[in-house]
Amino acid sequence: MTKKIIIAIDGFSSTGKSTIAKQIAKQLSYIYVDTGAMYRAVTLYAMQKNYITNSSFDKQKLINDLQNIDLSFQFNNNLGFAEMYLNGENVEKEIRTLEVSKLVSKVSEVSEVRKKLVAAQQEMGKEKGIVMDGRDIGTVVFPNAELKLFMTASADRRATRRYKELLDKGHDVKFKDILFNVQERDRIDSSRKDSPLIKANDAVEIDNSDMGLKEQFNRIMSLVKLRIEQN
Ligand code: C5P
Repeated sequence: MTKKIIIAIDGFSSTGKSTIAKQIAKQLSYIYVDTGAMYRAVTLYAMQKNYITNSSFDKQKLINDLQNIDLSFQFNNNLGFAEMYLNGENVEKEIRTLEVSKLVSKVSEVSEVRKKLVAAQQEMGKEKGIVMDGRDIGTVVFPNAELKLFMTASADRRATRRYKELLDKGHDVKFKDILFNVQERDRIDSSRKDSPLIKANDAVEIDNSDMGLKEQFNRIMSLVKLRIEQN
């Protein structure tokens, strides 16, 4: 049997990390973990409890309540990937709204939140054979990952993709709001104190502004083969 590795994919918002990560995981029969979904689910919980609104954030209340947040992924055979469950409820749709996107970077700045989620992510990768995407996977969660990728693309391209995605899903959104959100999340994610979004020294950078999915897939698969041979 070929050796299993850890593939860490980090990068800016809406760079298509999860789309490519799902394809790579499927090809390799690896587990795929969308860590952004976990931060989004905690944000949804904080919104439901009114700990966070557009104008206020009671961090301490969220921290005190963290033990009551149970996150799990359950594989959906029809979709071919795992969906996010918050305290036993499927929240896949709710966590993708612009309302959650607007608040998630504030919640993910909280160290206690990061500590809880990073521990869960490390547990999921214990057996390797995993593709995980996020912002700190190659730097904090799996600093020894065999393959690290860092995805970038122009903000305009990324906002256009996200805008189309949300329209397709029936959300009523404006392009300028999406562009603002993408840039604002990049700013907060890259400048926060705890685990900022930075490219790991040993990560391979992929700018997919002008790259199709097939080209990205082939490029990444050739890197994967190389790393599996080397390990
Ligand atoms: O990947 P996605 O865009 O769904 O992530 C939503 C947000 O969750 C990011 O903007 C970031 O604030 C946070 N996040 C994080 N660390 C990760 C994954 C996501 O801080 N590993």
